[in-house]
Formats: sequence, C-alpha cells, structure tokens
Amino acid sequence: MQPISEIYGELDKQAKRVVITMHQKPDADALGSSLGLYHLLTRLGHDVTVISPTNWARFLSWMPGADRVLDFEGMQDKALAVLRQTDWIFCLDFNTLSRTKRMAPVIEGLDCVKVLIDHHEEPQADRFTYGVSDPSKSSTSEMVYDFIIHSGHGDLINEAIAECLYAGVMADTGSFRFPVTTAAVHRMVADLKDRGLRHWLVHEYIYDNFLENRLRFMGHVLLNRMEVFYEYNAALIAIPKSDLLRFEIQTGDTEGLVNYPLSIQGIRLAGLVIDRDEERKWSFRSKGSFDTNTFARRYFNGGGHYNASGGRSADSLTQTVAQFKKALQENITALQTEYPIPLTNEQV
Ligand code: 5GP
Ligand code: MN
Repeated sequence: MQPISEIYGELDKQAKRVVITMHQKPDADALGSSLGLYHLLTRLGHDVTVISPTNWARFLSWMPGADRVLDFEGMQDKALAVLRQTDWIFCLDFNTLSRTKRMAPVIEGLDCVKVLIDHHEEPQADRFTYGVSDPSKSSTSEMVYDFIIHSGHGDLINEAIAECLYAGVMADTGSFRFPVTTAAVHRMVADLKDRGLRHWLVHEYIYDNFLENRLRFMGHVLLNRMEVFYEYNAALIAIPKSDLLRFEIQTGDTEGLVNYPLSIQGIRLAGLVIDRDEERKWSFRSKGSFDTNTFARRYFNGGGHYNASGGRSADSLTQTVAQFKKALQENITALQTEYPIPLTNEQV
C-alpha cells in the first residue's frame, strides 16, 4: 500500500469513475465519511457512486446524498454493474475486506485502483494500492477531513460535507468525550463551523430521531436484560430474539445500548450480545486500560479498537453468555486494576 498522498495530484486531473464503500451495517462514521468524500469528489468532477454492503439505520438517512447510496444486498445487479466499470474504489472505515460481507469477493476480484482510509488496527494493507491507516485517529471522518485539507481542497468543504463529517466524528468520539478526542478534532470542528456547519441539527438528527418503541425497548432491556458483575467491574446485556420481535427492532435501534452499563460507578467493561438470525453479535466497550480489541479477537472471533470492539459467535445465546463469564474470570487481574485514575491536586 503506497501513501495516500500519491493520489493527491490525480484528484483534479481527468474525471474518473469512482466507487466509495464501507463496512456492512454502516454507522454514522462509515456513512458520514463516505458521503463527505462523495460530495468532495463529485465537486471535483468525478462520477461517484456510494455502495453500502447492506442497509443502514433509519436515523442516518438525513445525510445529504444518502438517498443516492446503493444497498448491495437490495440492488445487487445495479451495484455490480457500477463496480465492474469503476476506475477507483475507496474503502472507508474497515480494515479487512470480510467486513464488507458479500461484497468482499467482488472487491477482491476488481482490477482497479483500490484506496483505503481507515482507523482500525491491523489492516489488510497488501489488498490496497494506496491508503492511510491510523488507529490514533478519532474516526474515518476525521481522516477524510485530513485528506481534503492535505490535498488542497479545503475551499470545497460546504455544509453538506461539514455535516456528514461532523456526524462521523461526533459518533466515534462519543460526542467528544473519549480519549481519542484530540486537539486536532476540536480544531477540525472549529474549521467546519467556519464553513457553515449546523452542529445542533446533526445531534438532533442522530440522537432525537427514534420511534417510541425504541425507548420502551431500552427501558425493558435495562430493567430485565442487564447483569452486573461487581467483582469483575463488568456488566452484560444479553438480548434474546423474542425481544427484537416484541419491540419491532430495526437496524440501528440497538446502537449505543452497550454504553449504558459503563455509566454505573466502577464498571469498566460492558458486553452486549444480540441473538441475530445468523449469529450471536457481540459489542464490547471499556474504559481505561482494558483492551477490548484483544478480548474480542481472543474469545469472540472479532476485533476493533482498544476501547470499542465487536465479535460474533455461532453458539446459542446461553452458551455464548457462559463463554463471556468464563472470559471475565480469565481476565480478572486486568479487570480489577484500579480505575478511574485518581485525580491529583499537585498543580494547585
Ligand atoms: P460495534 O460494537 O459498534 O458493532 O463495533 C465496535 C467496533 O468494533 C467497530 O469499530 C467495528 O469496526 C469493530 N467490530 C465490530 N464487529 C467486528 C467484527 O466482527 N470483527 C472485527 N474485526 N471488528 C469488529
Ligand atoms: Mn469509525
């Protein structure tokens, strides 16, 4: 994989056919970074199509350009025709092609320029012609912003680009609270504000845009499906399929749920498992020095970031929950390490 800076000179030359894709079930960062890049490349005169491997949460559909995104599962023939013609494919917000689900073998087989922009650990760098992979970045949306600025096209950032990129950074930093929220992130937001960003609308579109059943589902889950293990500073939410049916849960309705147990004093690891048709899908979140990337890789065939990861299991819900409890026991030392870091008055 060559440095992404090598393509800067190509951006304002001859118009190209471009596909932008991201991981399956795209979240605000995956879709926001893709649409931010879509608007930039379109403004530069390229013929750009965004293809998502699957559908996405209803609360992301406000993003400018989302109505033009092709869902590979829903519109496979059309998406394949575009993919076969493309000169470039940009792969955003994933590290391994398998995260594009059924699109993976198609991308693998394409004979075009492949560009990676991502912030996950251990990317499949040998599959890409150009790219940038930086796990120290808050989000892929921040990396797309860097791409726009470093390639000399900051003047093309309009409200649409600003709002798509802001949504991604906001979501991946937990609304600017996780440690990845660097000074550079705040400088980027200040710059987007100068270029017309209406940040309050983005917060409302993403966080105040659910149906009643979703809030009732949250209440039910927190009351009846959460287990707290104080001896391990950990908590678990396990959701059976019957709950998904009862509350008519759609893609995206369970997003953010895994963070709630971390608001309990002393809890530093939260696990969420959902009984999906094809698999049991795990999400992990931690605070401080507990490495959820290694945890997900070791026990649940997954991965991700240090403090946020995911995985999967083919076992039943009961079996995979038992495996989680066993894993807690095996990680007791790491889980009992002192946290939060005591504040000091040394500077006073
Ligand atoms: P989420 O819990 O939001 O699904 O995922 C949290 C983080 O873990 C995301 O950055 C996502 O990319 C990563 N992740 C989720 N599921 C998987 C998985 O099955 N495999 C890998 N390698 N990463 C995952
Ligand atoms: Mn991301």
